[in-house]
Amino acid sequence: MLTVEQALQLVIENTRPLPRVEVPLLEALGRVLAEDVASDIDSPPYDKSVVDGYAVQTADFVDGRAELVFLEEITAGMVPTQRVESGTTTRIMTGAPIPAGADGVVMVERSTIVETGGVIRIQLVEPKIKSGQNIIRQGSSMRRGETILSKKSPQPITPVAIGVLAEIGRTKVRVVPQPSVAILATGNELVPPGTTPGPGQIRNSNESMLAALTIQAGGTPRLLGVARDERDELRQKISAGLDADILLLSGGVSAGVLDLVPGVLRELGVVEVFHKVSLKPGKPLWFGVLDHGERRTLVFGLPGNPVSTFVCFRLFVDAALQYLIRGYETASLPAHALQPQLPARLGTDFNHRGDRPTYHPARYQEANNSNGEWGQDIVTPLAWKGSGDLRTLLDADALIVFPPGDKQYAKGDAISYLPL
Ligand code: AMP
Ligand code: MG
Repeated sequence: MLTVEQALQLVIENTRPLPRVEVPLLEALGRVLAEDVASDIDSPPYDKSVVDGYAVQTADFVDGRAELVFLEEITAGMVPTQRVESGTTTRIMTGAPIPAGADGVVMVERSTIVETGGVIRIQLVEPKIKSGQNIIRQGSSMRRGETILSKKSPQPITPVAIGVLAEIGRTKVRVVPQPSVAILATGNELVPPGTTPGPGQIRNSNESMLAALTIQAGGTPRLLGVARDERDELRQKISAGLDADILLLSGGVSAGVLDLVPGVLRELGVVEVFHKVSLKPGKPLWFGVLDHGERRTLVFGLPGNPVSTFVCFRLFVDAALQYLIRGYETASLPAHALQPQLPARLGTDFNHRGDRPTYHPARYQEANNSNGEWGQDIVTPLAWKGSGDLRTLLDADALIVFPPGDKQYAKGDAISYLPL
C-alpha cells in the first residue's frame, strides 16, 4: 500500500496548471497574478504639493521671512497658469501641480501669513525653507513602463495590489483562476440536513463540510446532491461533475458490496492513479484523473466516514488545491513542503495501536517559556471515538501523527503533528 508521502507525491505529479483567465479587477482579489504589469503613467504624474500652502522660490526668504506678490490659487485638479518668479507666490492645495518656477511650498500650518492688497507676508516657524520642501517629484513613486507587479510572486493579490492596479489603469487583469470543485455524496442511507433521518438513515454532513473546506481553501464548490448506491444513478451524477477542475466523491470506495464508485469511475474513463493509502482514518481513498484535451479533472473518491473525509481533504485535496491556486507548474515544489509536520511533545500518556500511521485529533498548546514544562509546543490527543466521530474533531486544532506500530507513549515524548 502507498504511504501518505507517496500518495501525496502522485496527487501533485498529476495536477496540471489551470488555464489563466482575465477577470475584472475586483475579482482578482486573493488570486495569483498571471502576468507582469507595468505602469502606464508616472506616479505622481507631475511634481505635486504634499501640503496646503504657498508655492515659492525658496531663495526669496531672508531670516525666514518674505513679502511676495500673490499670483493665483491652485487646488487639486487645476493646472497653474502663471510662473512663480522671484518675489511672487501661488496659493496651492495638497495634490495640486507645482507651478513652473517654484522650488518649494510653505506649509500654511508652519508659518504666519498676513495678506494685504495682493501682497502676502510670510513668517516661517522654521528659520529656513529648503529647496524641494513639500514637493513630491513626478515619477518618484513609479515610472511609466516600470514593472510594478510580477507574476513570479505566488502571493495572492491584496487590497493594496488592487489599489496599485487601479492607479496604473488596469480594469482587468490576468490571474490563476479559482478551481471549481464539484461535490457528490454517495450512499443509500443519506438524507439532507433539513430532514429527520428515518430508520437506518443518517444526514449528509459531508457535502456541507466539503463545500466549506473548499471555500476555505480558495476553491468554488458546486453541489451535486446525493447519488444512491446504484450504477446508473452514480454514472449520471458523477458525469455531471467531470467538467470541474476537481470532483470530490464521498463514500462508496471501500470493500462493501455497494461500494461501486471505483468501478463506475473507470467506466466513465477516469484513469485510476491509486486506490488505498496506508493511513488511519482514510485508507480506502481513491484518486484518478480524466483529461479533456489540455484540461484535467482530478477525481478524489473520499471514504464516507466524516473524519476520514476530513483527513483525506486536509492531506491530499488541500495540497492539490494549493498547487492549482498558487499557479505552480506541476511538481515545482516537493509535496511534503505543502504538508509540513511540526515537532511537539505529547501532553499525556497515550497507548497507540495500529499498523498504519494514524492522524489523531488533538489539542495544541503553544510552548510557554515562563513556566512551560518542556519549552516546546504540546499536543494532547482527544478522546476520539473513531472515523465517524466528527464531534470530537470540533475540539481539535491539530492532528497528531502516530507512526505505525503498537506503542505505549509517555507524557513528554517527542511526536509530530499537523496544524489544522
Ligand atoms: P462508505 O465509505 O460509503 O462505506 O461510508 C462509510 C460510512 O460513512 C457510512 O456508513 C456512513 O455512516 C458515513 N457516511 C457516508 N457518507 C456520508 C455523508 N455524506 N455524510 C455523513 N456520513 C456519511
Ligand atoms: Mg456508502
